[in-house]
Order: sequence, then C-alpha cells, then structure tokens
Amino acid sequence: MLFEFRYLEEIKDQYDVLIAGGGPAALGAAVYSRRAGLSVLIVEKVLEGGQLNFTTYVDNYLGFPNIEGTELAKRMKEHAESLGTHFLNASVEKIIVEGETRAVVLDDGRTIEAKVLMIATGTDPKKLNVPGESELIGKGVSYCATCDGYFFKEKDVVVVGGGDTAINDALYLSKIARSVTVIHRRDKLRAVKILQDKAFQRPNIKFLFDSVVERFVGEKKLEKVIVRNVKTNQTSELHVEGVFIAIGSIPRSDLVKDIVELDENGYIITNEWMETNVPRLYAIGDVRKKNVRQIVTAVADGAIASVHAAENYF
Ligand code: NDP
Repeated sequence: MLFEFRYLEEIKDQYDVLIAGGGPAALGAAVYSRRAGLSVLIVEKVLEGGQLNFTTYVDNYLGFPNIEGTELAKRMKEHAESLGTHFLNASVEKIIVEGETRAVVLDDGRTIEAKVLMIATGTDPKKLNVPGESELIGKGVSYCATCDGYFFKEKDVVVVGGGDTAINDALYLSKIARSVTVIHRRDKLRAVKILQDKAFQRPNIKFLFDSVVERFVGEKKLEKVIVRNVKTNQTSELHVEGVFIAIGSIPRSDLVKDIVELDENGYIITNEWMETNVPRLYAIGDVRKKNVRQIVTAVADGAIASVHAAENYF
C-alpha cells in the first residue's frame, strides 16, 4: 500500500535528516542516509513516489525495462522503509533556518528539527492559461492521464504538448480512448525518438502540428477545443470530451524562496553536492536547477546529498 499514515506520536521531534517531499530523490536520499546510520523522516503531502505515481510506463530506469510508474514508486518506498525510514503524510508549511537550527513547521503546527534538511518537493504541472481551462478542470480538462484517463473509455481526447510526458500520455490514452489528437505548437516533437516512433505507428493517434489551443468551451463539461494554426492563423474546432495538458512543469520552491538562491524560473540553485547557499539545506530532484530531469538523476541527487551530509555533519 502506497498510502500509509503514521500517527504523530510515532514521529520524533528531531531527526538527523528530514526530507520535504517523497519522490525518487527523497527515497534515494533516505536509502543512502539510513545506510550511513542516520535517522530519516520523509514528510510527504500526498503520495510517496511523487510524479512517478502519475507516470504511466517507465522504460528508462536501469534494471526495469518496462515498469508502471506506480509499481516503481511502491518498490522504491518499500526499499526506503525496509531500512527504517520514517514516513509522515503531512504538509510542510514553513522551513526554519535560524543560526544552527534547521526545522520544518507542519500543517498541524508541529515543529520538527533536523541536523540536515533536504528539499525534494518536485514540480507542479504548467497551465496553458487560456480561457475555459481553469473552469473546466475536472470537467474534461486534466493534467494527469494516469489519474483520469479511465474516464474517457472509447471517447475522443486531446493531449497538448510535444515532450516525453505528452507522448507518453498519448500512448497510454490510445489504449483507452477511441482517438487521441496531439496538439503541438511546433512541427517537431521534443519527445525522445523511441516514443515518437511508437506514437506515429499507433493508428488512433493523430497530430496537429504548428497549432495552439485558443480556448476550451463547455458549460457543465468540456464540449470542444478551439485550435489555431500558428502558420496559417486559421482556427478550427475539435469536439472532444477530454483534454490532457502536458506542457512541462514549474518548481515547487515557494517554501524556500526567501531563504535560498533560485534561478530565473524558480528552480533551486545547488552545487554538485546538492548544497544550496545555506549550509545543511540541500535541494534534490526536479526542484533544483539541472539539465536532465529523470528518475535516475533524481535518485542520484538524493544519494549525493546524503553522502555529503553524512561525511560533513555527523
Ligand atoms: P518538457 O518541458 O520536456 O516538454 C514540454 C512540452 O510542452 C514541449 O513540447 C513544449 O513545446 C510544450 N509547451 C511548453 N509550454 C507550452 C505552452 N505554453 N503551450 C503549448 N505548448 C507548450 O516537459 P515534459 O513534462 O514532457 O518532460 C519534463 C522532463 O521529464 C523531461 O526531461 C523529460 O525527459 C522527463 N520525462 C521523463 C519520462 C520518462 O523517463 N519516462 C516521462 C516524462 C517526462 P516545445 O517543444 O516547443 O518547447
């Protein structure tokens, strides 16, 4: 079971390593920190495994040629748990950095201290910011194919975006929906070739290149998508019941925006040991400024931060 609550009484007031966020970076850090003999608490708001739980199939994590995201998340969590990691389903509301003190304040007001804090809060899906989008969320507009795809059995759906997530989503949805139309703003996909090849071969996946969504239309639920071709400026209507928006992500770095250095897009800047500009405060995984955001690099970030922390602060 992925979702496991721990009673607050079981959770101590102080840990060696406290990790905010519970994705692959956090779980990787927990494994390495526990093996170094450190006490570890992972505080995760929703579901351990992070974005992995919303990833359909993973085929590039070494040793697992084809595994469902939720299954990989479960195995990673079990691994960290088997070594004695503590987990707490709660929301971190505040990070405290005062002198030597490092602590988090939880949504119930409780404060937990740690010698080392790691920020592994990941990213949120980016919005298109077009009319009708926010009004129709949950009524046909979704940001998670694995979560909501099931509702569109034998229906016509749209995927917006041209990256790995969008094409992965299109492939997943093509097995459920009657048809999938991928709307991409350029004439070339960004996704890796192996995904592109698969998608081009699927008979029920169509592509609308050089096209952007102008707006979503629907009263109680999504009825149609107004699309504009950016080369001809012509608009057209697509009558579909579902839209999956997969146009990238924005970092969840709000918690530390006044504490650590961020780049112009809000990603946390670290050195190669994952240290932020504040000692004993690390950033790992997708939330940090980096070139390659993959499961394998997230796990590696966690390992590197833990090795550095264990060698320098314990
Ligand atoms: P990306 O940033 O890679 O791709 C975003 C896509 O959305 C691009 O095609 C981009 O267009 C398009 N886009 C961005 N903004 C807009 C906008 N405002 N309107 C219309 N289109 C827009 O994000 P992904 O989520 O796909 O991937 C993020 C990272 O996660 C990548 O490193 C990816 O490799 C990784 N990933 C790995 C997976 C795996 O290992 N199995 C699965 C999924 C993701 P354009 O191309 O023109 O910039």
